[in-house]
Amino acid sequence: MKIYLLNPPFVHRYSRNSRWAARCRGGALYYPIWLSYTAGLLEKEGHNVKLVDSPAWGWDLENVKEDAKKFKPDLIVVESNFQSLTNDVMVAKGIKTEMDAVSVLVGPPTSQFPEKILNDGIDIAARFEYDFTIRDIAKTIEEGKRFEHIKGISYKEKGKVIHNPDRKFITSKELDEIPFVSKVYKKYLNIKNYFLSHTLFPMVQIFTGRGCPNQCTFCSWPETLMGRRYRVRSVGNVIDEFEYITKELPEVKEIFIEDDTFTINKRRIKEVCSEIKRRRLKIIWSCNARADLDYESMKVMKKAGCRLLDVGYESGSDKILKNIKKGITTDDSRKFTKDAKRAGLMILGDFILGMPGETKETAEKTINFAKEIKPNIVQFAVATPIPGTEFYDYVKENGFLLVADLEESLDKDGFQKCIISYPDFTKEDIENYVDKALKEYYLSPSFILTAMKNVFRKNGLHELKGMVMSAKVFMKYIERKK
Ligand code: SF4
Repeated sequence: MKIYLLNPPFVHRYSRNSRWAARCRGGALYYPIWLSYTAGLLEKEGHNVKLVDSPAWGWDLENVKEDAKKFKPDLIVVESNFQSLTNDVMVAKGIKTEMDAVSVLVGPPTSQFPEKILNDGIDIAARFEYDFTIRDIAKTIEEGKRFEHIKGISYKEKGKVIHNPDRKFITSKELDEIPFVSKVYKKYLNIKNYFLSHTLFPMVQIFTGRGCPNQCTFCSWPETLMGRRYRVRSVGNVIDEFEYITKELPEVKEIFIEDDTFTINKRRIKEVCSEIKRRRLKIIWSCNARADLDYESMKVMKKAGCRLLDVGYESGSDKILKNIKKGITTDDSRKFTKDAKRAGLMILGDFILGMPGETKETAEKTINFAKEIKPNIVQFAVATPIPGTEFYDYVKENGFLLVADLEESLDKDGFQKCIISYPDFTKEDIENYVDKALKEYYLSPSFILTAMKNVFRKNGLHELKGMVMSAKVFMKYIERKK
């Protein structure tokens, strides 16, 4: 069967697969990672697949229509996120009108708004994690059967919306059955199109496991896509992919492990690291981490080539951390940061301003906290409530949400803007504090010192290139705000 997998056109360099789907201020562009995993699985099943990444290629709807017409797919799979939902549905319909194919929408909004998506003209909404769901849809169409046995989909029959039961999240064993995503990148994408400000360039993003058991009230992935159980690929399978990347994509300077929290299982970290060392792989890698990681694990990771930990500190106020159920205190974060630096690991620190209970005092605390612990790189984001999360329900029920849907959370250029306002801490306060935090951090003499230290590290030239790219985009953003 011919299957067209589309990351649809929207604003330029829109990172549909990032945690807060938007155009990134640091110029980052994420791989269409979930679609790529599905592409690999479908190819393995013998399908003729085409993977298209419009935001990376600068394609508009006409480009896509023309390309899809040539490919003549039987099945069109279009990825969506809340911030671009109307656009994504419109694109999927636009292509479908030109050909006789079944349209499927995938991505976070399908788990929250399947009915709306179907009523807007899409044939099937594949809810939550969707690799095996798409495989089953393709098989069912090929066999000419009805959709009633496919778990995890919503569709219409005789004008009536039908929600089939949820599909179980795929198991650790099944994760090993999905081909390496890096093989898919090599075949379909240009790795030089993708950039994360905190990794060496070029990089690849992979998952070694999916799902997160933590309870952060603002976090959308567990609620809308991957669930609350951390399922993992076998260590051998993960390191086989590391080895594949080393041999087949020699230009790659870094692997970024996108698991929500790669550092949950300390024993697995040790196993992964000792397998990297046993095979004498020299590739550099980084990962997401939680601020409860211990020093011993950090040392092991560093020795196995780990370069940076991307950690969600979120706030410098313990009151806010409690409100968002982070399960981490500022003292945990202080210890984590000290240990990571002692182990020789770099840190990207993520902060959010505008969480429930935020005031000018707590926002100041967060800015001062960042300056105190001095991560190598920081990100400050405005709090964005994502449907399906406790945070979203809270702001909606209390009248703090300023818009009807998340599409209004991006400005005309695709950058994130604030869509909430509290009586004591307004939308303007949140935006002003994010700008203030970024400026105070990046334009301070102590950051210049930190930046200099980065440049004198191993791979200093690559560190410098990444920093220059980010700095350029950051300065443009500041200019635009003026
Ligand atoms: S630990 Fe990270 S991935 Fe897990 S729920 Fe919290 S923010 Fe989300």
